[in-house]
Amino acid sequence: MHTREQLYIDGKWVDPVGKGSIEIINPATEEIIGKVPVGSSEDVDKAVHAAKLAFDSWSKSSVEKRIELLNLLSKAFKERGEELAQTITAEIGTPIGYSRVAMVGTPRVVSRSYAKILEEFSWEEKVRNSIICKEPIGVCVFITPWNFPLHQIIGKVAPAIAAGCTMILKPSKEAPLSAFILAEILDEIGLPAGVFNLVSGHGSEVGDYMSSHPDVDMVSFTGSTGAGISVSQSAAPTIKRVTLELGGKSANVALDDSEPSIVAKKAIAACHQNSGQTCSALTRLIIPESMNREVCEIIAAKNNSYLAGDPLDENTRCGPMVSSKQQSSVSKYIESGINEGATLISGGLGMPDGLTKGFYVKPTIFADVTPNMKIWKEEIFGPVLVITTYKTEEEALSLANDSIYGLSGGVWSGDEKRAINFAKGMRTGQVSINGGAFNISAPFGGYKLSGNGRELGTHGLDEFLEIKSIQI
Ligand code: NAD
Repeated sequence: MHTREQLYIDGKWVDPVGKGSIEIINPATEEIIGKVPVGSSEDVDKAVHAAKLAFDSWSKSSVEKRIELLNLLSKAFKERGEELAQTITAEIGTPIGYSRVAMVGTPRVVSRSYAKILEEFSWEEKVRNSIICKEPIGVCVFITPWNFPLHQIIGKVAPAIAAGCTMILKPSKEAPLSAFILAEILDEIGLPAGVFNLVSGHGSEVGDYMSSHPDVDMVSFTGSTGAGISVSQSAAPTIKRVTLELGGKSANVALDDSEPSIVAKKAIAACHQNSGQTCSALTRLIIPESMNREVCEIIAAKNNSYLAGDPLDENTRCGPMVSSKQQSSVSKYIESGINEGATLISGGLGMPDGLTKGFYVKPTIFADVTPNMKIWKEEIFGPVLVITTYKTEEEALSLANDSIYGLSGGVWSGDEKRAINFAKGMRTGQVSINGGAFNISAPFGGYKLSGNGRELGTHGLDEFLEIKSIQI
């Protein structure tokens, strides 16, 4: 059992003022595997007070010290990598191989990348008679989701440490355990007291209170668009900076000179990665009418062999949904696709074959999906791919942009220049050309209802900085 009874505030593990605890359920076994405290507004006040006091000296700390700490953090992720991967798989059911690489490996390289960025970062520049200085914004609040629990946290914590900010983290209630391990690591490597504070609890209570706190200078939120709107509203009266990483319904577009068999093979993983619980998943596949039959046949066959099951089995490709709530929500979308007349070419309702326990759904593919359908418009957040066809490239672009979201996208073409040109027309923060790999040094963030601001790389660091002009 992972039992946590204390919060990490001002460099110490302390008893919470809040009462009660949040149980953590392993979605593959449905067993309770741990609990964390329910923090209260008094706990938040204490953490904000500590962060405010620590800001004075931490904001003036040397860049060398911050580089050293970020490298130590990265090293600790390597040393405690297996423990972190097993913990995250137990909390959210991510297949263990993917946990090692994406859930722990990515935070490890992101921490190191900020040490590298600091080595060359320019804090001041001269513009005519002005010195333009970059300074840490102050006390930051981080509210994070469960789907990539540690990665979403480190995308905020690492640049905040690099910038010289202090912070309070509220992890998700479904997957808070890696945040507690992170607090242990930051304590062990010698991050000064008050720079990082951890308060677990409910979003609508502590999350909301943190967002409205007058002594907080910035809130960085990752999660659903609805909760992001609430956070923005709570933060508005205190004019703090708000950055939002929200939902998505991203398009994967095959141009008519792309290779259908490659598009079909890659489209499944691009949608189903992390069991489809990925904000940037490419969940709408848009293909030329002429390719429809071939692509659908390959995808249906390949999806049938997409093994759903025990996330600790190295062969498993798709784990359970994070919770019974998520399982039922994804199932309702599958039902809605069937009822609205889309063609079910693989998967469907019910548990995957051979499974009787766990919050599983069948990896599912729908063809002949039209823009009026719910499964085309709404973020499903599960392994459900929807396919539609187009006649002209203009129509393909219009279908790709037919979303309230704009987080990610994909384009396939035999002509890279043509694909890049198409990508430039997409109203979205990231586009992958012919399967181009995720780059931890490139800015990540959304257009439209997918958010405000960017994470990762130097753009991610800039979010934590204020800019001052001194005229001479
Ligand atoms: P969620 O919005 O339910 O919860 C996210 C966090 O917000 C949790 O810590 C939660 O406790 C807190 N929260 C909830 N209501 C709040 C409120 N009113 N005030 C303050 N805090 C509140 O999201 P989730 O279910 O954990 O995650 C899934 C969603 O996150 C999906 O929509 C997904 O697309 C999105 N997401 C986006 C990104 C990105 O980078 N754009 C990354 C991961 C997930």
